[in-house]
Formats: sequence, structure tokens, C-alpha cells
Amino acid sequence: MVEAQVDYPRYLDELVGLAKSGHPQLAQGNCRSYGDACLYSRVVSTLPLEHLLDFDPERGVLRAQAGITLDRLLRFCVPRGFFLPVTPGTKFPTLGGCIAADVHGKNHHQEGTLGRFVDELEMVLADGSSLRCSRQEHPELFRATLGGMGLTGFIYAATLRLKPISSSYIQMRRVRTGDFAEACQLMSQTREEYLYSVAWIDCLATGQHLGRSLVMLGNHAPAAGPAPLALHSPRQRPVPFHLPHFALNSWSVRAFNTLFYHRQWRRDHQVLVHYDPFFYPLDALSHWNRIYGRGGFLQYQFAIPFAGGLELMREILERIAARGAGSFLAVLKVFGPEEEGPLSFPLPGYTLALDFPLQGGRIIPFLLELNKLIAGAGGRVYLAKDAILEEHDFVAMYPRLEEFKRIKRRYDPHNLFRSCQSDRLGLR
Ligand SMILES: Cc1cc2nc3c(=O)[nH]c(=O)nc-3n(C[C@H](O)[C@H](O)[C@H](O)COP(=O)(O)OP(=O)(O)OC[C@H]3O[C@@H](n4cnc5c(N)ncnc54)[C@H](O)[C@@H]3O)c2cc1C
Repeated sequence: MVEAQVDYPRYLDELVGLAKSGHPQLAQGNCRSYGDACLYSRVVSTLPLEHLLDFDPERGVLRAQAGITLDRLLRFCVPRGFFLPVTPGTKFPTLGGCIAADVHGKNHHQEGTLGRFVDELEMVLADGSSLRCSRQEHPELFRATLGGMGLTGFIYAATLRLKPISSSYIQMRRVRTGDFAEACQLMSQTREEYLYSVAWIDCLATGQHLGRSLVMLGNHAPAAGPAPLALHSPRQRPVPFHLPHFALNSWSVRAFNTLFYHRQWRRDHQVLVHYDPFFYPLDALSHWNRIYGRGGFLQYQFAIPFAGGLELMREILERIAARGAGSFLAVLKVFGPEEEGPLSFPLPGYTLALDFPLQGGRIIPFLLELNKLIAGAGGRVYLAKDAILEEHDFVAMYPRLEEFKRIKRRYDPHNLFRSCQSDRLGLR
């Protein structure tokens, strides 16, 4: 393996200097994307660009450098009565990385992706020039950068509208459903009532239990108690070593899933929880990836349209269960409308994210087959979680690809912003 060259700019001038160097390179945030979208032989780490630049407490509008993590943003804004308008399932990515992937959260069905709350981007382009873009100024560049996976230029800073909250707690309802269709039905029926919704699916259950789930629904709670806007400071527990490969097999995953599914004896349960365990359960375990052993795993996330979606999802779950290949982390969400970024992932329908132990690469042909099925149904896989997609399936999955390529060529005619993923997908 060849080691990448990594630069760590601390100031805008240094970022401009790197762009002017004329080398092919890629912005890198905190490497929380699962595949090769954040990898290249020459990367520019934005982690030193971690400063808050401005905050308007009246309007809840914040301007920050791109390398700031969501964790730091939350530490700043929650005690002041604001929350991230959209958050992924971990608080460790950077703001720039989340904009570049146009991340979605558990509220997509009501509020869309993070990009909808970004008002302005300060960018450094391939020729070393810096410019501001927004829905009014250079709107094409702005839109292509939302979900553009770092291929349009360096995001130096962003202006973001926050969500006002009165409490750092979530009023959560957790419902056990007998199968996948019941979970989808419940999530669809409660779309208006609950801002947040997500289901954990037992992807190894078969027959009449296929896709049995725990559906988690939530809303921000009203202020209560002496410290309604308290931050949570959970102690991270480490997974101390890589588990041996025999520890993770279809039997152990099945046993875990059964225990997890029966963790609540009541079918329908309401509880007040802090936002931290509600949104970021995995962050409580450092090095959680070691559960998959040294062989590693692939995360796989796809979205499929509502029309025919239930049948296709059933077919995919049947194939996964039959192969005994699924993991304990299978998460279902319902998406709302498409986004403005030509490469943004969401489409109106269902999305499922799963981890698959890599099995020395034996899982890959199986996932490539799923890709074809998904592309054929008008669905797509998420670029932030991809390492294996083939160019012809990618072309079929992203109908606005040519629009993206045209904008990229205009702002980066020599294809200087590139990643291992963009090279693999012919994205230039
Ligand atoms: C446990 C876990 C849960 C997750 N849950 C979700 C979820 O619910 N929803 C969701 O949408 N995603 C989710 N993700 C994926 C994650 O949010 C995205 O991959 C995000 O992009 C990671 O940000 P990062 O700062 O680590 O960026 P990296 O992984 O380092 O980079 C991601 C992409 O952003 C580009 N980029 C980074 N910084 C810049 C910049 N300053 N300028 C231009 N381009 C830049 C990179 O070139 C790359 O293409 C999850 C990931 C994990 C590990």
C-alpha cells in the first residue's frame, strides 16, 4: 500500500497555496465516510481549520471553518438553545465533510438534508481563486458542492442555519414491529407526527418475521428540569482489540439480534432520552469497527423509490437472510423529496444501511448483484458509503450525473480535485 501525502493548512492562505500548486488532490475531513470517497494519494486535511467565525444568536445562524467537527458545533450551540438542523448518526465528522456528502438524518422525511440549511459556502477553487457561492451567487457551483464529494473545490467555510430547541432531550417512542412491512407502515403513518424516525431491522430474521424491527420515533422535548440544555458527557467505552473472525458469524449475529429485538417487553414504549444516545449510539464505543475483526467490513447503503419499494426491500432482505450475511447494524429510514445537489443521495422512498463483514472480499460479488437490482428499480447507493460501485451502475443510479460533470468541468477543467472513488467511477 502506498502512503498518501497529507497537508494540514491552518489558514485560508495556505489552502489557496495548495490549490495553486496544480497537483491533483482531495479535501479530507475526519474520514468518517466508509469507502474511498475521502482517499487519494495526496490529501488536504481540513482538521486544523476548526474555528467558529461568527454566530448570530437572534437568528441562530453560524459561520464556521469547514474542519470543525459536529461534536464541537454541538458543544457550542446546545447550551445556547440551538441544535444541528440535520445530523448523521455520528458527531465526529466535520462540517465540510457533511456538506460534501450532503448528509441526511432521521428527519429527512420532513426537513431534507443538511444542504437545505446551508446559506453560503466560501470555496477555494482549482485555479487557487477563492469565492463565495450561495443560491444567489454562483448557484450552480453551490448546488454541485452539496453532495459533490469534494470534487468541485475546497470548502473553506460555511454559513449554517441552526434549529432552535428548548431542551437537549428527545421524547422518544420505541415500537416493536413483527415484520418489515409493519415498520414501513408505522414510519409512513407517523411522518407528520414525529420529526425523527428510524428503524433497526433484524436482517437475519426469516419467514413471517422477515425484517422485524424496533422503530424509534422522536421529537425535541419541551424545557424541563434545572438544566434543560445540558450537554451529555458519556464515557466512551473502547472495544479493546479486534475480535477473532470466528466470533462474528451468522449464529452470533442472530443471537445478538434476537436479544436486541426483545430488549423491551412492551410493544410500544415512551421514554425521555438525551439527544446523545438517541442520535449517536455508536459514538459511545470507541473503535467499534474492531467488532468486525481484522478482516474488516463494508458498509452498504441504498435508497429505493416508494413504487415497488416494499417488494424490492423484501427481496433484498430475503437474499441477505438466506446468505446469513447481514450484521447487527441494519438501519431503515424513510426519505422525503429529492435534493438540489445533482449528486445528492436521497430520493423519495426507503433507505437501508447495513454492515457486511468483508469475508476476504467474498461478499463483494453479492453486493454488486444487489447494485444491479437497485439500479434497475430506479434506486441508488450512497457515495459516502461506497467502495465497490461500478461505473455503469453509477451512471444508471444518478440521472443528474451529466449536469454535475458539466459544472465540475467548468470549475475544475483539469480534474485536479479527485478521489480514489471518483477515478473508479470515471467522475471527471
Ligand atoms: C457511525 C456513522 C454513522 C453515519 N451516519 C450517517 C447518516 O446517518 N447519514 C449520513 O448522511 N451519513 C452518515 N455517515 C457518513 C458521514 O456522515 C459522511 O461520510 C461524512 O461525509 C463524513 O464526514 P468527514 O468529515 O469524516 O469527511 P470525510 O469522510 O473525510 O470526507 C467525505 C467527503 O467529503 C469531502 N470533504 C471533506 N471535507 C471537505 C472540504 N472542506 N471541502 C470539500 N470537500 C470536503 C471529501 O473529499 C470526501 O469526498 C455516518 C458515518 C459513520 C461513521
